[in-house]
Amino acid sequence: MASGGKKKKTKLDMETRWIWEKVTPKQRTEIMDFSEGYKSFLDRAKTERLAVETIIERAEAKGFVHVSDVENPEQGTRFYMVNRDKCVALIVLGKGSIEEGANIVASHIDAPRLDLKGKPLYEDGETQLALLKTHYYGGIKKYQWVSRPLAIHGIVVKENGTSVEVHMGDEDGDPVFTIPDLLPHLWGKTQAKKSMSEGIKGENLNVLVGGIPLKKEKKDKVKMAILSMLHKKYGILEEDFISAELEIVPAGKALDVGFDRAFVGAYGQDDRACAYPQMEATIGIKKPTRTCISLFVDKEEIGSDTNTGIKSRFIESVFGAIAELTAEDTNKIVRNALENTRAISSDVNAGVNPMFKEVHEPMNAAHIGCGIVLTKFTGSGGKYRSNDAHAEFVALIRKTFNQKKVYWQAAELGKVDEGGGGTIAMFLAMHNMDVIDAGVPLLAMHSPFEISSKGDIWSAYKAYGAFFGTK
Ligand code: MN
Ligand code: MN
Repeated sequence: MASGGKKKKTKLDMETRWIWEKVTPKQRTEIMDFSEGYKSFLDRAKTERLAVETIIERAEAKGFVHVSDVENPEQGTRFYMVNRDKCVALIVLGKGSIEEGANIVASHIDAPRLDLKGKPLYEDGETQLALLKTHYYGGIKKYQWVSRPLAIHGIVVKENGTSVEVHMGDEDGDPVFTIPDLLPHLWGKTQAKKSMSEGIKGENLNVLVGGIPLKKEKKDKVKMAILSMLHKKYGILEEDFISAELEIVPAGKALDVGFDRAFVGAYGQDDRACAYPQMEATIGIKKPTRTCISLFVDKEEIGSDTNTGIKSRFIESVFGAIAELTAEDTNKIVRNALENTRAISSDVNAGVNPMFKEVHEPMNAAHIGCGIVLTKFTGSGGKYRSNDAHAEFVALIRKTFNQKKVYWQAAELGKVDEGGGGTIAMFLAMHNMDVIDAGVPLLAMHSPFEISSKGDIWSAYKAYGAFFGTK
């Protein structure tokens, strides 16, 4: 029954309302402007290496120097550390000792994609077409990767140690690549009978790269033609593919989506939808009370292993380097610093898709356009493989967001027992720091064209800025 009096606003009421209704006209313009920078970032940072390059360039333009160039460290000193060109930390020193802990925001800059195999290039005998074999990276729905324009980005390291960058498919005038799907006229007895997860096999994710033969060759004329072109353009030989990292990603630029341009549609928004606002919030830090560390890591999509993922002890090198700038007994300082650190794992969450509502529990699900999502725990089943943020820490974050008027919502990923997923939060927690997940909700996550709301990207920027400022 409706009551006559004015309804008291609760947080849950707020959650069901778009941030668009709450922002001022000035903020609305700010949101739209912010998304322009975001789209340019997505266009450039198509791989983890390109993301690192872009982040360093932006940081250097805003006064960050390499750690080895730091002189007279003091509150507000800005520097960065890089790990193998795939992982980077931006640091702004706080007032006291690092022993009191830092404020960390950490996102990942790798994204699901197709990597080339070590021996990728072949010519199909009957069709005389040249193709590249791939091995997919991260969780993909394979059918989404066929019959669409693809680009190649990466590096090839030659035997003598010199490396050459390969970028093809994203510049105006570039050719693109593709994996041709089967026509519906002939799919009835084969592909149409299969489940969606089996309709395209991982072993068949082969990319079409050439069709003109090299006349003088006796066999594999098309393959030889491609090899000769690659040698001319990049100076590489067939064996060089073994020591290469070449990533096949969707070609094309980030686009506005909707008549009202509410959304950004692009590849790689998991997790660059968080990495970009995080980067912008970091360069906005002036003289923080607590030392701020902005981490951009690799390999989250395959479980965070390897020395450029969050499981790497690189994080201890970062704390060690900060300690060494100011003190001598770094061991104890680093240990205490880690224990007193608060961290946000800035990673995306699943927004409710209007066509697949049944996988969500709407009261506790994320809705795009309603602000950054605070996620106490991820994982699956009975919270397995998850960092379950402590209530005390959740309260601190909530208070921070509310005080700074950040638009936020609280949500889980999917219904209980529906599935699930993890983030880097649990690996940050291994260092005995407090961690919570907070990130942008997406539609069509892990697809070649993920959707974010511009309002949420901007909310993430405000949220990370507020968090970095906590004392
Ligand atoms: Mn992610
Ligand atoms: Mn992911």
